Amino acid sequence: MKTFDIIIIGAGRASNLAKTAGKAGKKVAIIEKSSFGGTCPNRGCVPSKLLIGYAHVARSIKEASRHFIDAQINSINVEKIFEETNKHIYSVDPAYRNKFNENVTTFEGEASFLSNYAVTVNGEELTAPKIVIATGTRPKTPEHEKAWTSDDIFPLEGAVPKSITVVGSGFIACELVNFFDAVGIESKLLVRSQRILGNEDKDIAAIFKEEFTKNIDIEFDTSIQKVEHKDNMFHMTLINIDGSTKEHQSEALLYATGRDPNTDTLKLENTDIKVNERGFITRDDSFETSVKGIYVVGDASGEHMLQHAAAAEVNHLAKVLLKDNKEIHKFKYMPHAVFTHPEIASVGLTEQKAQELGIAYVASSRSWLASAKAQSLRVKYPRTKFLIDPNTYEILGCHLIGPESSIMMHQVLSIMHLDNDIRHLKEMIYIHPALSEAFLPAAVKAVADVRASKK
Ligand SMILES: Cc1cc2nc3c(=O)[nH]c(=O)nc-3n(C[C@H](O)[C@H](O)[C@H](O)COP(=O)(O)OP(=O)(O)OC[C@H]3O[C@@H](n4cnc5c(N)ncnc54)[C@H](O)[C@@H]3O)c2cc1C
Repeated sequence: MKTFDIIIIGAGRASNLAKTAGKAGKKVAIIEKSSFGGTCPNRGCVPSKLLIGYAHVARSIKEASRHFIDAQINSINVEKIFEETNKHIYSVDPAYRNKFNENVTTFEGEASFLSNYAVTVNGEELTAPKIVIATGTRPKTPEHEKAWTSDDIFPLEGAVPKSITVVGSGFIACELVNFFDAVGIESKLLVRSQRILGNEDKDIAAIFKEEFTKNIDIEFDTSIQKVEHKDNMFHMTLINIDGSTKEHQSEALLYATGRDPNTDTLKLENTDIKVNERGFITRDDSFETSVKGIYVVGDASGEHMLQHAAAAEVNHLAKVLLKDNKEIHKFKYMPHAVFTHPEIASVGLTEQKAQELGIAYVASSRSWLASAKAQSLRVKYPRTKFLIDPNTYEILGCHLIGPESSIMMHQVLSIMHLDNDIRHLKEMIYIHPALSEAFLPAAVKAVADVRASKK
């Protein structure tokens, strides 16, 4: 049995922990069954956002007429787009392996537990007093063996399809279908209910639905009743919840219908580590599992399922393990964005969540169009929605829809991080007429709405 100070299972965000611990002189084992770097740079955030860059330019040209510009796209080299994206992906694994010093031993293979503090990989047995589980998630298995998940397009090794059907209603489905459609691949999105981006605030999701359907061909209330793959095409019978059916064909079929935790192959039954009903590993506020000295970070806990959350957890755990930092790291506010057209950014409670939890709030919503820069975009939908604590003026939630929402949101995040009070957004000076200026009338209205609620 080989002994280490720390064993890390999964070389996604936790690669940084291996690097830092190695530098601090700890003897570290890091085990990875696929590509070092994990989901984000290999098959997640990074390649999907590289694609969004191309989609963004294509959409701008397609929508140029809004600014009285007669422009058209002559051709889009989608093969080249994927070639460039693949180039990035192929560079990730070696770059991550190079992060480690001589104190870090890398193992390529699937790890599983023999007992609480003993792990096996490729027939070797390893032990450590501290073990970090950072095994992430994988896409749910598609309902047809030839159908894709997002893993199959990152990297895309075969020919680029001319048509695609995407199944799902979450951010991955929406971002991918937005890309395919924008670069001229005939696309259809199948959504099994009327809800799309159902985790977003209901008002923002409603605007999104209205705008997104202007570009994307979406069949709501629809699922695939029957699918057959022949002559390089998927032949589908689509069924609506009203029972009506129709035939549909496309060259590719991609499922983005959710993700499962990679905990089922860890042989947790040999340990006292507990999982919840969905198979995610449970933990306390210090990321420690039900076994002392064994931690879980990132997607494997099922808590946030976001790169920046996993990265922050890993950084905090490095302090706990290397500097004996006893401080509990609590994320009160975890922001996220949906990089579609239109773009969404969100932090904190949605109105429906506040209602479900019985939390007192004042909801206040304002268009961005008081800002000249927002007007210059010549779209009407951009909007800010705040949920404010009526007693303290704390921002409980902020939801944005509009161009560059993900950038705009950082202004609100700073306030929430430093001294969370909406009145700061009302009192600060904005550069006129920058897009961020749209927060001024939104904050003025939110403060007025809170005051009115007290009368
Ligand atoms: C298409 C897509 C787009 C995304 N876009 C965004 C975005 O824009 N913003 C954002 O914040 N997040 C995004 N995410 C989510 C983000 O990628 C994840 O939250 C993040 O990568 C999680 O990091 P992690 O380290 O927890 O897990 P991972 O990065 O998944 O790492 C886990 C690693 O563990 C390995 N592993 C699993 N089991 C074992 C085992 N038994 N033995 C050895 N190794 C094992 C896996 O191979 C994997 O490499 C996206 C995800 C996808 C799929």
